Amino acid sequence: MKALVFADIRRMEVREVPDPVIEQENDAIIRVTSAAICGSDLHMFEGRTTAQPGMVFGHEIMGVVEKVGKGVQLVKAGDRVSLPFNVSCGTCFNCCRGFVNACLTTNPKSPGGGYGYADLGPYRGGQAQLVRVPFADFNCLNLPGTPGDQWEDDFIMLSDVLPTGYHSCIMANVCPGTSVAIFGAGPVGYMAALSSFLIGAAEVYVVDRSAVRLRKVQELGAVTVNFSEGDPVEFILNARKNNKAIQESLRPGEEKMAGVLCGIDAVGYQALSREDAANEKPIQVIEDLARVVNATGSIGLIGVYFSGDPRGVDNKAKEGIFNIPLGKLWEKGIKLETGQAPVKRYNALLRDAIVQGRIAPGKLVSHHLRLENGPEAYDKFVQRGAGEGAEYTKIILKPNG
Ligand code: NAD
Ligand code: ZN
Ligand code: ZN
Repeated sequence: MKALVFADIRRMEVREVPDPVIEQENDAIIRVTSAAICGSDLHMFEGRTTAQPGMVFGHEIMGVVEKVGKGVQLVKAGDRVSLPFNVSCGTCFNCCRGFVNACLTTNPKSPGGGYGYADLGPYRGGQAQLVRVPFADFNCLNLPGTPGDQWEDDFIMLSDVLPTGYHSCIMANVCPGTSVAIFGAGPVGYMAALSSFLIGAAEVYVVDRSAVRLRKVQELGAVTVNFSEGDPVEFILNARKNNKAIQESLRPGEEKMAGVLCGIDAVGYQALSREDAANEKPIQVIEDLARVVNATGSIGLIGVYFSGDPRGVDNKAKEGIFNIPLGKLWEKGIKLETGQAPVKRYNALLRDAIVQGRIAPGKLVSHHLRLENGPEAYDKFVQRGAGEGAEYTKIILKPNG
């Protein structure tokens, strides 16, 4: 079969690789109808992880079951399914408690398995014609409809960015009526904004520098903040200060709550420095969030911070050690949550929200491309909404044409 292979830093190649086979009784093989490129793939693409050449990437996968092992009971050949990016067993201590992002049996190295990702176990990625799914009964989410129908672009978001964006809201304690600041308008930031509105947040601010990406979140109803035009924290504080209804509702002392209650970092360790956007400043967003989130608020760090980054900005960053404003966070009593999203906690309910017409996350998709165009797609997407990559808001690969 054909697959998109990591040939070297910043170089993907379409190669012929062996077809996956049923290795365990509870495996299934899926013929991939859509596979998305994720911002997380870009960290590997840019040599910012321990990923080695030869890997097949891809953890946002949906398709049709081709065959199943003899221990599989619930899914069968012909079923249309979505795969969570987490590979999990469903029966270990952590899976049983809902922490499928920290499954104890699927990754020999550490808690948490995933498809086609550095340090997440031996699972080949889904930017390929076929993919092997371990623990198929647990990992496959059945989908209504038929391949290529009106839901295809919505359902592909169920593997990662939609449940991940939703999880970032849960981390940040988003609830009806609340105020949210989201840093990053990439796919994860977009889905965090969409989820904030689904939950019922009253004020949603999204910070980025990409005009195209900011326009996309504006379509959802978010207030956009372009960090290349000034300090985004000042912008948000001023927007709230100049809002008459907000100011007229304040009770005594409440002027000390000038920022927002919920903060979401949808950028991670490759955050650009606001002083010099040609360079990274890994703690840029954490510093901004510590300023803009009110006392008693919550922050979800859904953007990743790895402990092994061969090209980190300094020796400490290479080990994932960062100088964050812990004093300020502590004084404000801010709750901070981190980590991979447990997709299976949310994907069935988000699927139903799609089917009932409550959300349409597929509106983010800008490009449908053949696997052969995958290398160029990475070159564009890695520009993260700038330059020639400006219009590439979400890319869906079609490995089987
Ligand atoms: P992306 O790279 O496409 O988007 C990142 C966006 O952040 C870009 O639009 C960029 O312009 C913006 N940005 C850069 N510096 C900024 C700054 N200082 N302030 C505000 N915005 C800034 O990536 P994505 O697909 O949206 O993913 C975002 C992050 O989430 C990545 O780190 C990705 O690895 C991570 N992620 C985490 C999980 C999880 O389970 N925790 C799952 C999926 C993705
Ligand atoms: Zn991802
Ligand atoms: Zn498990």
